Amino acid sequence: MSPRPDDLVVNGRRYAWPARPLVVVCVDGSEPDYIRKAIAAGAMPYLAAALPSGTDRLADCVVPSFTNPNNLSIVTGVPPSAHGICGNYFFDREAGAEVMMNDPRYLRCGTILAAFSRAGARLAVVTAKDKLRRLLGHGMRGVCFSAEKANETTLAEHGVADGLGLTGMALPSVYSAALSEFVFAAGVKLLEGIRPDIMYLSTTDYVQHKHAPGSPDANAFYRMMDGYYAKLAGLGATLAITADHGMNAKTDAAGQPRIIYLQDHLDAWVGAGRARVILPITDPYVVHHGALGSFATVYLPGDAEIEDLRRRLAALAGMEVVLDRTAACRRFELPPDRVGDLVAVSERHVVLGTSRARHDLSGLDAPLRSHGGISEQTVPLLINRPTVHAPADRRLRNFDIFDLALNHVA
Ligand SMILES: [Zn+2]
Repeated sequence: MSPRPDDLVVNGRRYAWPARPLVVVCVDGSEPDYIRKAIAAGAMPYLAAALPSGTDRLADCVVPSFTNPNNLSIVTGVPPSAHGICGNYFFDREAGAEVMMNDPRYLRCGTILAAFSRAGARLAVVTAKDKLRRLLGHGMRGVCFSAEKANETTLAEHGVADGLGLTGMALPSVYSAALSEFVFAAGVKLLEGIRPDIMYLSTTDYVQHKHAPGSPDANAFYRMMDGYYAKLAGLGATLAITADHGMNAKTDAAGQPRIIYLQDHLDAWVGAGRARVILPITDPYVVHHGALGSFATVYLPGDAEIEDLRRRLAALAGMEVVLDRTAACRRFELPPDRVGDLVAVSERHVVLGTSRARHDLSGLDAPLRSHGGISEQTVPLLINRPTVHAPADRRLRNFDIFDLALNHVA
């Protein structure tokens, strides 16, 4: 091994060079109870044995508790106010259009992954869905591909000529538990083969959207992951596990979704189509949640009484908090130029929609489970080794995981 370079400073935070391979796993939608209940059911023997002498903490994710803002916070070490990615989807005021935020041009800072690759570290990133791949891999040299498009990899673009052939698995459906299993299977093969210094694995929450913690399907999914954790640890890696967000049932006692249709209310108050409701959960893969989450942002017409509308929205049954742009960006550390005039967050078991006519719920084959709100902010932060001098005087964030795993592992 060549001599180690100095610590790296990325986005104002200092990171030590990994002493052994580091595998950071972002388990999509992993409410802390999934792991607790799977361990209690005996489905995660590796973690059950490793955690008592390792690091077993809770952390807060970024609100909106969605996939892209949190994955980007984790790999940059900073909140959306710094990296710019505050949803899967947003209203681009400059372009006057609602657009997906999965293009690296929306990213306002570099990643820890890119910085280490530039310093000579060997990097690998495997994601479940392709929507994250270009953001996570931005500026990074190394392996970076998605399970979803593992059959389309090229050495030039993805750092691996045959991503699909790596595992021997068939190409998984984008709506399947196997899509996440592929990520781990590829991770194990990469660790055995090119042995990256740092590897980032990101799964999909297909299972968590359908199955509650402790249910047989959830426990089976976590048992699958535990088997790979054991293999990755057995290959000598430090294993650091967190989540992008939690997950909650969004239904009433009868199992029907509880939805506040914001556009319908605003149409009645300020005129049809004059307010624009943006649901940042929206992406091309909405079948399992109908684009319904617990966070929305609203752009109002110029003559609107913002404070009056804020109070009216806040008074709706099932609403947790409605803030104006300034207050929302301060509280949730969001970029003001990518947030509407108001931010609405619904209660734990309630989601926010646009208008009733615009949500197709026919694809929901199980009672709605979703995320996006403050109620899905608590996530696990687990490391298979003890950490020392970890900040005890403040709440941990999921985007502290590289700091903990690189700077504080004993
Ligand atoms: Zn997610």
